[in-house]
Amino acid sequence: MSVLVVGSIALDTVKTPVEEHGDLLGGSASYAATAASYFSPVKLVGVVGSDFPESEFDFWKKHNIDSEGVQRVNGKTFRWSGEYSWDLNTRETRSVALNVFENFKPALPESYRKTDFVLLANIAPSLQLHVLEQMERPRFVVADTMDLWIETARADLDALLPHVDLLILNDSEAREMTKETSLIKAGNHIREFGPRYVAIKKGEHGALLFGGDEFFSCGAYPLEDIHDPTGAGDTFAGGMAGYLAGTVKEVTFTDLRKAMIYGSVLASFCVEAFSLERLRNLSMDEINERYEVFKTMSQFDLPT
Ligand code: AMP
Repeated sequence: MSVLVVGSIALDTVKTPVEEHGDLLGGSASYAATAASYFSPVKLVGVVGSDFPESEFDFWKKHNIDSEGVQRVNGKTFRWSGEYSWDLNTRETRSVALNVFENFKPALPESYRKTDFVLLANIAPSLQLHVLEQMERPRFVVADTMDLWIETARADLDALLPHVDLLILNDSEAREMTKETSLIKAGNHIREFGPRYVAIKKGEHGALLFGGDEFFSCGAYPLEDIHDPTGAGDTFAGGMAGYLAGTVKEVTFTDLRKAMIYGSVLASFCVEAFSLERLRNLSMDEINERYEVFKTMSQFDLPT
């Protein structure tokens, strides 16, 4: 089954303490769609300007990412620039130029409206809801968000959440949303806003999953070299949603646990190189090898 992915498509400039690269493919939807495409066909929704490289449309085609829902508008593509501190953990946004993104209103092609799985990657919650309003009852809706929307568009986010099956957010966003210091309390509290399941990302410390009276915690892949953490969260969400769409009929907590590990595996590849460079040409063998490492890491077999 396919997954519909909507979000930002950007040209990023990223600076780390050792390197700086400009005009790289970025945006929440670019990362999420590429990660998802390893497990299921993708229907992409977004907007780009006239400066957007044609080669990326060829890349999407090769990856079974349908770009009929990507609007091409006269003007410049959304641009974002960020700078990381020495630990590659904290990041400052240096500049944002919305450009064609400013007047973006997602419009779904007819062939997208019946898609069963949806990933609302990070964009304004009013736009995320507008996508759902054009769909015929999707079976499973995953949504990502960020601190900006929690702070500036809380009413829109609250209107969206009852329509979301799985909400993905990071630890500081979960705390900010609930005013809880404990992540366990925060995860359970967010479920009261609507989503049946909640995934809380903790960066290099892994992720937590909440649903019903079930709970799951997984670590992060033990990477030695990180070059660019940009898009790790979007890649995690794309890996999860793509795995569910490509593999599962009725989503259970066990499926979500597996999806979370695949999301973590894809995110581990993402941060190994700038932009989407490492994500562009992975093999399923490479992905499954890391999945096995996760399984070994989480098995307890200690002498008594
Ligand atoms: P992440 O590292 O997961 O936070 O995602 C970084 C990506 O999000 C970059 O590629 C940016 O182009 C994109 N981005 C930054 N700000 C926004 C925003 N306000 N809305 C949507 N996407 C954004």
